[in-house]
Amino acid sequence: MAATEATVMEKIVSLCKRRGFVFQSSEIYGGLGSVWDYGPLGVALKKNVKDRWWRAMVQARDDIEGLDAAILMHPKVWEASGHVAGFTDPLVDCRTCKSRFRADKIQESNCPQKPSKRPGEHTTCDLTEPRLFNLMFKTFMGPVEEQAAVVFLRPETAQGIYVNYLNVLQASRQKVPFGIAQIGKAFRNEITPGNFIFRTREFEQMEMQFFVEPGTDQEWFERWRQWRMQWHRDLGLTESRLRWHEHGEGELAHYAKAAYDIEYEFPFGWNEIEGVHNRTDFDLQRHQEHSGKKLEWFDQASGKRFLPYIVETSAGADRVTLTVLVDAYREEIVEGETRVVLGFHPTVAPIKAAVLPLMKKEGMPEVADQLYRALRARVPAFYDDSGAIGRRYRRQDEAGTPFCFTVDSETMADRTVTVRERDSMQQERISIDQVPAWVTERLAGSAAG
Ligand code: ATP
Repeated sequence: MAATEATVMEKIVSLCKRRGFVFQSSEIYGGLGSVWDYGPLGVALKKNVKDRWWRAMVQARDDIEGLDAAILMHPKVWEASGHVAGFTDPLVDCRTCKSRFRADKIQESNCPQKPSKRPGEHTTCDLTEPRLFNLMFKTFMGPVEEQAAVVFLRPETAQGIYVNYLNVLQASRQKVPFGIAQIGKAFRNEITPGNFIFRTREFEQMEMQFFVEPGTDQEWFERWRQWRMQWHRDLGLTESRLRWHEHGEGELAHYAKAAYDIEYEFPFGWNEIEGVHNRTDFDLQRHQEHSGKKLEWFDQASGKRFLPYIVETSAGADRVTLTVLVDAYREEIVEGETRVVLGFHPTVAPIKAAVLPLMKKEGMPEVADQLYRALRARVPAFYDDSGAIGRRYRRQDEAGTPFCFTVDSETMADRTVTVRERDSMQQERISIDQVPAWVTERLAGSAAG
């Protein structure tokens, strides 16, 4: 049975807290607005998402290099990129209730005094004119808090790639066309954050910038569109909940020639999870102008000198992790009881295998412990000997563990264990000695993308 859409997010948020996927930041102090912490299962889930991305984008390709640029950058980077002047949202304040709204999202917001109305529609509302609000977090470098010492927390990882593009080219001996990939934190002082980890003020991006010869940019753009959509499908996301959204004239960023978002149908509606953009040579032009350094590429084979065009693929690691959680969440009625399952793709599941001794006697815990140790040498595994076996299976279902191995009295007689599969709940017996290889094989079989 599908969970009802109205409450599914509340259920996921509550499951995430209870099982240690995601906690509110600084919760004992009342929390910090739209900042979240990942608990033991969450950090493993998000890491698996990032690892899959890195494997597909860097490890499996010979035309993309990795990078880890610093969060703090020279302040001129943000002048060149246009973020100081233009990374703004229009903001309106209500003088009565002191709330703030994005002027362009008023029609999707509610008046805090009268939630059935939009801001501005209630008799006591008193809205200001829209003002532009810069979303970059500022801080100071060094001991003196003065204008000259202002630096920003990066609002995107892309700029670290642009300013390093020649370094990477020279160090790696790549040739255009080639790409640079990076996973890292970004910060945006969002005015209306929300929807759990969908829109937060501190988040992680998985960005790749592909440098190409002008004139070949649309071809590469189309290729990257296909590859990125396939990556999300390979993650196991439901096909019918993925779609493209093309940026129309009014929506296109000033630097973009073409832009498409990959959208996912969340319980709160269709929303962007990744953007694929043809950024032309805007970024390199600007950095060339502002730094005074030539950023052209000389192609020895053709004798051409040019400033490469850039095709960008930009996904949020937290947003994709939320997508994976939402897509995996289901409730089923089994023998009159509700079973909550996170049906993760096995390669992103935080725990791959659990080992459960049926009873805490007759040597079962010792045998189970040996199996657990053999398993965890290969994959993240979990040992659980407390409570009825049915309840232990349910706990693993909620954590999204694909395989459970139960050690029982038969094991003691013939060295076989029960494998219980999360999705089908089917059980079969296999030799205990084969278990680690069985798990590795099953995971390898599902590791596309
Ligand atoms: P939105 O329209 O949702 O604000 P955007 O168009 O500003 O997003 P980009 O600047 O293209 O987003 O960022 C690329 C990706 O980074 C997004 O697709 C999203 O996955 C992620 N991202 C952007 N802002 C946030 C945020 N505040 N919290 C979490 N992830 C984010």
